[in-house]
Formats: sequence, structure tokens, C-alpha cells
Amino acid sequence: DKLIIGLTGGIGSGKTAASDHFMKLGVDIVDADVIAREIVKPNSKTLSKVAEQFGADILLENGELNRAKLRERIFTNDDDKQALNSIMQPAIRYALLEQLNKARSEYVILSAPLLFENGLEKYCQRVLVVDVPVETQLQRASSRDTVSSNHIQSIIDSQIDRTTRLSKADDVIDNSADLTHLYKQVTQLHNKYLTLAVG
Ligand code: ATP
Repeated sequence: DKLIIGLTGGIGSGKTAASDHFMKLGVDIVDADVIAREIVKPNSKTLSKVAEQFGADILLENGELNRAKLRERIFTNDDDKQALNSIMQPAIRYALLEQLNKARSEYVILSAPLLFENGLEKYCQRVLVVDVPVETQLQRASSRDTVSSNHIQSIIDSQIDRTTRLSKADDVIDNSADLTHLYKQVTQLHNKYLTLAVG
């Protein structure tokens, strides 16, 4: 069977920076966040389910999902959040498994911010955690997104805590230093995973 490596980490930890480098080394990346956006493209089956659940005014005039409005709805209403999850999670899972099956590199990376929260680690032989201190998450995420550090903090609070996440890791990237240091660790892990993939 194909070697699947789960890649996770909190907001702003450097998952994208890490997976971009794996991609440069020729590794296929399946990204749960990218899939979550793709499955609600205009005219998609999943988007029509969302519109059925939340009303047609959850769509913009161009037929795209009004993400800001949806975020507001699920932020203020737990039933709405549950309803959205029960539409999105099976659709994400289906597309994700399909992409994992199509992957042709020696091993494949499944990148998901909520890998543990959404039970996706069961598809992975190993889990790689990108780790930084919370202060670094706040700094990097707020300078990238130009949103308040309060907002970033509330996202951090909604994710699994650092200690628990680390306790579930098979491999850890320490991304507290510069990008050169990150890429070096990625390359080392790549060589390790190639060895494991050969079996
Ligand atoms: P999210 O979960 O929010 O998608 P992420 O884990 O994918 O975040 P990245 O987007 O890769 O995180 O990194 C967050 C920000 O920090 C980006 O602007 C990125 O360029 C920057 N960054 C990542 N690693 C480093 C590093 N080692 N040194 C400096 N900046 C970094």
C-alpha cells in the first residue's frame, strides 16, 4: 500500500511552507484546505446542499459561496456549525481519498490543519507535526493575514493544544528558526520517507 504521511500543525505554524518544499522535491500533496474550497465551487453538488441548508442568500451574485456570511452563521450558531460539518466532512473525505489514490509519487503527503480534530490520521501511516511556540504562531499568522492577534488566538484556542498535538506526532519539524532551517529538516524527512516507502 501507498505510504501516506499526515502533515499538520496549528495556524501559522508553517504547514504550507513545509508542503511547498516537499512538492519541490517531487512529492504529491493532498491538501484538505484546498479540497474544502474546491468542493464548494459554483454549480457543485456540495454547494447546492449548502444553499439548501442555509438559504440561497448564502450565495453571492456570481454564484460563489459567501464565505464571510457562512463563517458568521456558524460562529454564532452551533446547530448551523453541525449542519455545515455534516455536509462538508463526507464530501471532503471522498475527494481526499480519491486524490490520495491518484497520487503517483513514492509517498504522498496529506496536509490538514485539523488532521486530528477531523480524524484524518487514520488514513496515514505516520504523522508529521510542524511545531512553533504560540507566540510565533500569533506573529506569523497576523503579519500574513493582517487580522488581529485576538482573532488568531481564538483560532488557536479552537484547535488541539500544542502538547497534545506533539504527543501524537511520529516526526516533528521545529519551525521556530528561519526558512533555511525548515527546508533542511524537510529534505532530511524526505530521505527518511523515501527509505520507508521502499519498505
Ligand atoms: P495556516 O494553517 O494558517 O494555513 P500554515 O501552517 O500553512 O498556516 P504558513 O502559511 O506556511 O503556515 O506560514 C505562516 C506565515 O509564516 C507565512 O507568511 C510564511 O511565509 C511564514 N513563515 C513560515 N515559516 C517561516 C519561518 N521559518 N520563518 C519566517 N517566516 C515563516
